[in-house]
Amino acid sequence: MDIRFYNTLTHRVEPFAALNPPDVYMYNCGPTVYDFAHIGNFRAFIFADVLRRFLELTGHNVHQVMNITDVGHMTEDDVADGGGQDKMEAAAQRIKEAKKQGAAHVAAIDNPEDPYQIARFYTDAFIADARLLNVKIAFEYDRDPAATRMPHATDHVTNHMIPMIEKLIEKNHAYIGGDGAVYYDVESFPDYGKLSGNTLVQLRTGQSGRVSVETMAAKRHPGDFLLWKPDPKHIMKWPSPWGEGYPGWHIECTAMARALLGRDVIDIHTGGEDNIFPHHECEIAQTCGATGQAHFARFWMHTRFLLVEGEKMSKRKGNFFTVRDVLEGKATDRPVDPAVLRYELLRGHYRSNANFTKKGLEDSASAVRRIREKARELFDAANFDEVDEGGLNIADPVLEAFAGALADDLNVGGALGALFSWLNQPHENPLQALIVLVTMDRVLGVLPRGVEDENFGIDFAALGAKGAGGGEDDHALELCQAIDAARAAKNFAEADAIRKLLIGLGYDVSTGKEG
Ligand code: AMP
Ligand code: ZN
Repeated sequence: MDIRFYNTLTHRVEPFAALNPPDVYMYNCGPTVYDFAHIGNFRAFIFADVLRRFLELTGHNVHQVMNITDVGHMTEDDVADGGGQDKMEAAAQRIKEAKKQGAAHVAAIDNPEDPYQIARFYTDAFIADARLLNVKIAFEYDRDPAATRMPHATDHVTNHMIPMIEKLIEKNHAYIGGDGAVYYDVESFPDYGKLSGNTLVQLRTGQSGRVSVETMAAKRHPGDFLLWKPDPKHIMKWPSPWGEGYPGWHIECTAMARALLGRDVIDIHTGGEDNIFPHHECEIAQTCGATGQAHFARFWMHTRFLLVEGEKMSKRKGNFFTVRDVLEGKATDRPVDPAVLRYELLRGHYRSNANFTKKGLEDSASAVRRIREKARELFDAANFDEVDEGGLNIADPVLEAFAGALADDLNVGGALGALFSWLNQPHENPLQALIVLVTMDRVLGVLPRGVEDENFGIDFAALGAKGAGGGEDDHALELCQAIDAARAAKNFAEADAIRKLLIGLGYDVSTGKEG
């Protein structure tokens, strides 16, 4: 299948081919864990998830890394070398204030002075949200104690970021500024500005990109950006050849992408549109400066922003929603099923602004209901003995139309169009149709299931032996066990979500002393 993606770097839709097929190496800029993630953040993360799932559907083996930024992200991060306050420090103050006022949502943080505790709290919250929204990588995080797929920036300062900064100094791409901080010398890298379209002259004269006034005197060029900030009083600090301090935000992703994907050149790098400049521009300069390669990522893919009722989300305007707000019903007048929020966030084209509206959410709810009802209907009508008899053929033309639309720069709207016109057709063989539907849902991820189960909880190979209802009951039992495990881990939101899934499948669920 010919796959084509828009590449921010070349401003064109280009044929996509992995460097080492079937492997695809992909890095996604992940969350900053100083607060609950909002629905705009999750538009970017669900985009990355859908991209991965589509690549997997087309036979790729995707090595995905999504970082967790727990240090170095400044409140003025639209300025190349940051500025203002570390977001973690700002969070500590906010949490202290909230605790004074007795706010329940931060009760679990008993020491707001401890940035690691804050990071852990919001990382757990992020993973819980991502699991509810069926983001695959969150399930891998649970099984991976070393967090190699979702690395924490603070775990990679000494072993990866500092050596990379040393390398950049050695190669004359970085220098120690007048204030003792280490800066990247943008004039040493001729391609600086290629991704965002900014030129060094525009940056010098302040025509594009804001520059930090505080550090101007310490740097060779106003566009030079921070790699290391010596600051022994900082909330999080590490020893380094340039004094105790902390890394710049951009070096985090560069160092972790290279270390954890084990590659100088990767296939795809994603983020929201605000990441293009300065963050990704700086990442390219750092990686290519250190490796000497012409490319860091072959494809740069960026999600346009999510708006709410046509406007930029903002706490001041009262149209700012976290995932939790939406699921609890704060954006509408009733709680929202996580699959409906997932569908709402994935259904628009990633290169257009998404507009989150009450009406849109209602439409998404009917779409998800329709997909689920159809799955249920096909499941009930299916003759599972056919699995044993062989002869199942899932080469349905709808799959070609569905995948073909996605291959065209992830045209989710086109793929959904193909799915819905197929849903309305009569299906002669329910089992076959069910498999086709489940195959499409491997990308969409809205059918009720246990964790990341690929087949609607149906073990098609074993079904013949078990007989018709057997597979379904086993699936229900697995979900009950998952509820017990979530409750034992005090993860009540997850337990509740799985309970709702079971109810959605038509079961009555009650919890006794034994689980
Ligand atoms: P942050 O936690 O602020 O580092 O953001 C995490 C990711 O969410 C980044 O890739 C951002 O580009 C992305 N992002 C932030 N706001 C929005 C939004 N309103 N719509 C889409 N993506 C966003
Ligand atoms: Zn990043």
